[in-house]
Amino acid sequence: MIKNIIYMIKTVTLWEFVKAMTLTLKYFFRRKVTLNYPHEKGYLSPRFRGEHALRRYANGEERCIGCKLCEAICPALAITIESEPREDGSRRTTRFDIDMTKCIYCGYCEEACPVDAIVEGPNFEFATETREELMYNKERLLANGDRWEREIAQNLKADEPYR
Ligand code: SF4
Ligand code: SF4
Repeated sequence: MIKNIIYMIKTVTLWEFVKAMTLTLKYFFRRKVTLNYPHEKGYLSPRFRGEHALRRYANGEERCIGCKLCEAICPALAITIESEPREDGSRRTTRFDIDMTKCIYCGYCEEACPVDAIVEGPNFEFATETREELMYNKERLLANGDRWEREIAQNLKADEPYR
């Protein structure tokens, strides 16, 4: 530190030195803009497009009606859906896979869904050690939905006036 200051004094004019030190001191006492991640986390927009989740209604029923609009619109061909009618006549998926290594987080699947079933939630901490762990199936997506439903519902409500 001292060596650096001596070097600076030798190589810059006194006026430049004073200007530089003034600037340093000005920022030294300001509020820090860096965060001590992961203990501190920054603001996330309600429109943040994170990890995918499949949502349920309050009674536990799956929202997804197997229309395959999300599969059709996905530009990365990351979604694979199979569906069939249930005994009560309603259509539900039997397979809902997302290859997260292909996903480009464009949000088109969420936009296309008529029942707000597939969403990109607020979770961005889902790094894995293997590629296989990023092949999400229906169980994984529904579990994500169950885990993040409160935050997802809040974000959708906050964004409602703009949709
Ligand atoms: S966010 Fe985009 S790329 Fe990813 S699954 Fe949805 S539509 Fe496909
Ligand atoms: S998640 Fe939405 S868009 Fe995709 S198949 Fe289900 S209901 Fe249709």
